Amino acid sequence: MRTGMLAAIRIQHLQWIVGAAAAIGCSALGGVLVSNNVAELRRASHAVDDASQFALVLAATDMISAERGPSNVAMDPHGPTSSDALAKLAATRAETDRRLAAARVSTHETSVFDAVIRRLAEGRAKVDAVSARPPEERPGAMIAEAIQAMFAAADEAAALRIECGRRLLRHAPEVGAEVLLQAEASALREQAGRLGSYAVMTLTGGLPMQVASASVTRTQDKITYLWRKLSAFAHNHGDDPGIREALARVETEYFGHSLPMAMEVFAEPSLRGSAAEFTRRYVPGLTASTELKERLGAFTLRKIEKAREAAIAATVASAGVTLAVVLALLWLGLTFRRRLFLPLISVREEILSLSVGGLGNPPSRAKAGPEVDEMFAGLAVLRDELRRKQVLERERRRTNQHLKQLAETDSLTGLLNRRAAAEQAPGVIEATRQAGQPLGAILLDIDHFKTVNDVYGHAGGDAVLKRVAAVLTSLARPGDLVVRYGGEEFLILAPGLDSAAAADLAERMRLRLAAGQGDRAAIPNVTGSFGVAAHGTESDRDWEALVARADAALYRAKRLGRNRVCSDISMPEGARRTMRQRA
Ligand code: GH3
Ligand code: MG
Ligand code: MG
Repeated sequence: MRTGMLAAIRIQHLQWIVGAAAAIGCSALGGVLVSNNVAELRRASHAVDDASQFALVLAATDMISAERGPSNVAMDPHGPTSSDALAKLAATRAETDRRLAAARVSTHETSVFDAVIRRLAEGRAKVDAVSARPPEERPGAMIAEAIQAMFAAADEAAALRIECGRRLLRHAPEVGAEVLLQAEASALREQAGRLGSYAVMTLTGGLPMQVASASVTRTQDKITYLWRKLSAFAHNHGDDPGIREALARVETEYFGHSLPMAMEVFAEPSLRGSAAEFTRRYVPGLTASTELKERLGAFTLRKIEKAREAAIAATVASAGVTLAVVLALLWLGLTFRRRLFLPLISVREEILSLSVGGLGNPPSRAKAGPEVDEMFAGLAVLRDELRRKQVLERERRRTNQHLKQLAETDSLTGLLNRRAAAEQAPGVIEATRQAGQPLGAILLDIDHFKTVNDVYGHAGGDAVLKRVAAVLTSLARPGDLVVRYGGEEFLILAPGLDSAAAADLAERMRLRLAAGQGDRAAIPNVTGSFGVAAHGTESDRDWEALVARADAALYRAKRLGRNRVCSDISMPEGARRTMRQRA
């Protein structure tokens, strides 16, 4: 059933349907591919933005940690605060503010951000309150409080870091490890800074012993924990020379130099000294962890950018391939149409035209595919062959016609010969019978024709025969058969004429013949004897009997003295029929 329906669809329509289905299918597949790649590209672009944002936030929060160094120097109770230290603090704060502003522009976590800024302002106010006092009026507890306030700002910054990292990981889970390592490098920087601050608090006597040792131990543990994780996992990125170098620098500069310095201070809690001097020597050891964080950040950004580039390439490639496939399908469809289907339709029309005998030249057409062109060439050969056959057939028909005419015609007079009359008579009889018409027959024999031959020669006799034929033809009606029945005997078969009408026609013929030709004396005048018979309304009609009756009448005309018309009226129709039945 289904194949029947398919078979009923014309191939050219099938071509359009299948072509359209293929094009739509390819477009849909390509569309899905392209839209997936575009989604991936959008994701990667978001990830690049988030990674940049994350780097800005890390830079800003690191500055909050770093600000504690100059703050501690400015609060140093061992000697007056130099204008240099204040200028350095102002410059560091300006840098922190600048980075915070840069990070804030593109951040989504404005509330967390504002909390950071608020805490930082509180910390700074406390630092300023200390540094505004003369050195001898800077109690350790007040310094410790200011430092703790700055810790609070750093804690708030850590929350911001986590928030940004979380956002980045949502768009770029593939850089999870790197993001965590960056956050931990930042945390390491913070904790190492805190340890330094605790050392400053110890040196300035602002921290009760037991609080100090507990905080120091906790911070130290955090540093150890962070460093174990960092050194273990960051070594996975050991093929990045920047990360490798930064790890080595943390190892030597912080753990080899700064940390032991702080440990010396904690080992001797009663020791008092210059916060500024300690800070100046301690802080450079912290830059390595900042650098480690930056290297990890650059690595992260590169990885995400690579993903974005891959997404761009995949998008362009999938769109290009889809477009190419659809264009190729379109091209194939149009080429098939132009070079196969349209020519095939022409071939079909040519063949149909040939089948009904159309042999004219087909309209000119564009070149098709080679296979179809060969078909056209074959058709042209076939057409030529058929034309030749048609010419031959016409000639054959003409020849046949001619032969038939020759066979049916008397060559001297041009009248039908006896054989043709015998052939055509049954048809005429049947036609008149069906039409209910009578059929008259007139038989004519030229009188004393032998004498004409004897006197004028055979040629003279022939001329007489021709003239007689002309006279008979001129008086016969259309539809009458005029036959040269024998040497100088003629028969006229006249459908529609009964016995009397036929006798009438015979009489007119006789008179015209007897009237002669007047001045055309070259042809001798002759007379003729006529015998007339007719079929009436009887149903069984016999051709030979009719001629025999006309012949009998003719015989009578000869006997009665020639140049006359005698009708076969010797026997009434009913009597003749009865006689035949008896016989
Ligand atoms: P009757 O009046 O009794 O008919 O006399 P007749 O001379 O016509 O009689 P007959 O039938 O004996 O003669 C017919 C002649 O017609 C004999 C033959 O030589 C001549 N004849 C027959 N065919 C032709 C022909 O084609 N050309 C010529 N010139 N003569 C022909
Ligand atoms: Mg005769
Ligand atoms: Mg005769």
